[in-house]
Amino acid sequence: MDSVGVPARGPLRLTGIALPVVGRARLYVCGITPYDVTHLGHASTYLWTDLVVRVWRSIGVTVEVARNITDVDDAMFAEARRVGMPYDQVAAISRFAFDRTMAALGVRPPDHEPTARASVTHVIELGQALLAAGHAYLRDGTVYARTADAAARVGLSPDEAVKLAAEFNDDPDDPGRDDPLDVAVWRAGGADVHGTAGPGQTRVSWPSPWGPGRPGWHAECAAMVLNTFGSSVDLHAGGEDLCFPHHAVETLLAEQATGVAPFARAWLQVGVVRVGGLRMSKSLRNLTLVDDLLERHSPAAVRLLCLGRRWQDAWDYDEAAFDQVEATVDQLYTAAGRTGSTADQALAVAAVDAALSDDLDVPRALALALDSGGAAARRLIDVVGLA
Ligand SMILES: [Zn+2]
Repeated sequence: MDSVGVPARGPLRLTGIALPVVGRARLYVCGITPYDVTHLGHASTYLWTDLVVRVWRSIGVTVEVARNITDVDDAMFAEARRVGMPYDQVAAISRFAFDRTMAALGVRPPDHEPTARASVTHVIELGQALLAAGHAYLRDGTVYARTADAAARVGLSPDEAVKLAAEFNDDPDDPGRDDPLDVAVWRAGGADVHGTAGPGQTRVSWPSPWGPGRPGWHAECAAMVLNTFGSSVDLHAGGEDLCFPHHAVETLLAEQATGVAPFARAWLQVGVVRVGGLRMSKSLRNLTLVDDLLERHSPAAVRLLCLGRRWQDAWDYDEAAFDQVEATVDQLYTAAGRTGSTADQALAVAAVDAALSDDLDVPRALALALDSGGAAARRLIDVVGLA
């Protein structure tokens, strides 16, 4: 307790894990594959990541954020072929739109924005480290990492894992690998892209010690984390749907390459957004675009729609939910104008802070802010970004 009886704040806790920070907190979040417009599922992940940064900063922690761009990816190349544009141009257009949407939502820009295209050298270094340590093998110019253990580490049976690996284009049927759950850190050969440079120049690849090829997705993120922050991070964020294979394999690759574990002290795997029980995704053609929502609703309402719940939970989007959310934002603004005694206000602010630091409990912080009003409501509006 300090002199006015306000409880001292503890460190941020996520799913029961206390995360004290000495110096700066290093946060990495898996970014977009830049070939599409931003939908509510993406926005939810980046809003939660933004909230954890705001909460950390509100308790005086310096946070360094890296959010990558996956601009070397077969889905990206396929979209570029479909629209008949060079893939880097598709990426540039999409990144511009994404940045504009994030700014409209009040998501602070990351300190680091590594791209897969600029990280090819680091993927090669990762492949060399894995080969040297005996955790990878070379076959016909492709470097495969032995990652079958990643599934067991997240509690998946081999059958479940193979199904998910196929869903995420890890190609478990590839006969070149020893185990269907091994992944390609480096893939031999080029990918077909839209041809702009004339005949014979329609495949993209990079030189490597194993011949021309391109990096694999999970290895890209592992390499970008290691290059940006060293061998571990304090918090790794991303959508819950990336838990396997992406996050599990990325973790194993990094730990096997560096010998340092855990790769991430904690994870913020944000619950997916569904529509009628199905995950919002491009392939299901059920996207709700953030730019469309922002034509009808305030950024504060979109933020509270995504953040006014437990971050782990999957949830169903329904436009009708905005009625309640917008009413709550109005009540919060009204409550912010109330006054009270200084001591009571300080206690109420501390209670809001404590709720936010305790697993980012926005519903509890919101209830406290509405109940106490005044400084507590203003604190919530400030930290959650609802102004
Ligand atoms: Zn990633």
